[in-house]
Amino acid sequence: MQTTMMDVPLSLNHLLERAGQLFKRGEIVSRLPDKSLKRHSYGDFYRRTRSLASAFQRKQLQKGERVATLCWNHHAHLEAYFGIPAAGGVMHTLNLRLSPDEIGWIAADASDRFLIVDDVLLPLYEKFKHLHAFEEVFVVPFSGAPVPAGYTDYEALLASGDPDGFRYAPHDEHDPVAMCYTSGTTGRPKGVAYSHRSTVLHTLVASLADFWCLRGRDVVLPVTPMFHANSWGMPYGAVMMGAKLVFPGPHLHPDDLLDLMQQEPPTLALGVPTIWLSLIQTYEASLKPDSPNHGRWKLPQGMRSLVGGAAVPESLIRAFDRHGVWILQGWGMTETSPLATVSYTKSELVGASDDERYRRAAMAGVPAPLVDLRTRGDDGQDQPWDGTSVGEVQVRGPFITGGYFNVGSPEDKFTADGWLRTGDVASVDELGFVRISDRTKDLIKSGGEWISSVDLENALMAHPAVAEAAVIAIPDAKWGERPLACVAFKPGESAETEALNALLTDKGFAKWQLPERYETIDAVPRTSTGKFYKLKLREQFPQ
Ligand code: ADP
Repeated sequence: MQTTMMDVPLSLNHLLERAGQLFKRGEIVSRLPDKSLKRHSYGDFYRRTRSLASAFQRKQLQKGERVATLCWNHHAHLEAYFGIPAAGGVMHTLNLRLSPDEIGWIAADASDRFLIVDDVLLPLYEKFKHLHAFEEVFVVPFSGAPVPAGYTDYEALLASGDPDGFRYAPHDEHDPVAMCYTSGTTGRPKGVAYSHRSTVLHTLVASLADFWCLRGRDVVLPVTPMFHANSWGMPYGAVMMGAKLVFPGPHLHPDDLLDLMQQEPPTLALGVPTIWLSLIQTYEASLKPDSPNHGRWKLPQGMRSLVGGAAVPESLIRAFDRHGVWILQGWGMTETSPLATVSYTKSELVGASDDERYRRAAMAGVPAPLVDLRTRGDDGQDQPWDGTSVGEVQVRGPFITGGYFNVGSPEDKFTADGWLRTGDVASVDELGFVRISDRTKDLIKSGGEWISSVDLENALMAHPAVAEAAVIAIPDAKWGERPLACVAFKPGESAETEALNALLTDKGFAKWQLPERYETIDAVPRTSTGKFYKLKLREQFPQ
């Protein structure tokens, strides 16, 4: 028997058309370099995006050709998200926090044909332009300054298109729409290419009520850069539902984000833990009567915050909850589109104690629909979901990459039966909650036993004097490796080793799991996506 269903391909173009039809009056707010706010309606967005697509077609952009972006989060970047695929091209987001050499290497590896760049980022472009020749460079006049000679004004590109006469490039649902390189903290950056199908399925799954719970009436603040796993896919979701978007532009300092939250209070905000860690510390400091910022901010009540990309300390979740903001943790990677698990209130947890709720919220969470997840031990066997057995997390699904651009499916990244090897080590409990204990390379092996650096860090960050903590392995003649804790204290505060060890012992760490040594640092170094950069610490403290 044959199905009677229509064979209509999943398509990003549908989301764009829907937004143009249904949400014309929805708002897209972008913070400009001078901190003023620029407003577009979804109606403007729709027409501008079609103009962009039409202009690229007139430039003979061929199906599957890459157009790179080097942009902050703002309206023009959103236009690229939809306009480039509408023309049949592939939007390739370049990570502006990488070194110029890395960016140039990535653009060359991807054979990007065109580049869209913010005018404020031209000095960065100048540093890598010798590494890859784009056919034409379009400059977004983000700061309002005239576009320098030799470049094409992005607005002029738009003006050369015809939003009314534009016709979508024919495609099937497996055609690519976007491309993103892994940030290379674990080796050379590798390109992941997303399709219409994977992006639409991921958007639908991520928007579910137990996950983002994305509603048309939401006001969404994506702090996660649009070059970091497509801002976790949120721009697609917001356009699908017509939610108001508030883009922070280049201003990601906690003061700036808190100011923006006063001007345009979000109901949903997303970012990596390090951002929220400094935000809550700045906010709590402002509550002290003698603070110069006293009374300047109030956290939007009832706001939900999606935090992921690295382990979220329970102390951070508790701190935000004290101020009326609930943190929802997700786990994933560039390779998984990225959302693969989310920590939400499963039915078994209704009525659970506060402690249990916080404990669960600090876990990576439950696999999303369409994501198959297993943990494999060193012996190649699936680990039981008993909450204690650990193994490498392996995933499979329609929005999980099956290989890398130009590289294929290397054995260290994919199993023989086609699952992605994430390089993360975790246990899964009987409710299906994944608990990431580490990345394989960050685990500390002491006397034959594994110590989780993530567990130690999260416990240390619960100390009131600690701003941030990162734990790395140092070589040890007797035990193989021992943990070294690098601790940054809050301004004017400190704590003795004994006090920190007492806290860890209190939290259930055995004596042999306690750090061998503590080092005081100013701040934990960050990766290009704002996560703790342990490689740098390992270089700084080789022993
Ligand atoms: P990179 O590999 O350069 O850091 P990604 O942004 O793709 O780039 O990072 C994916 C990795 O981030 C995961 O493999 C995992 O180690 C880490 N990660 C993401 N979310 C979480 C989380 N909720 N808890 C712990 N680790 C996380």
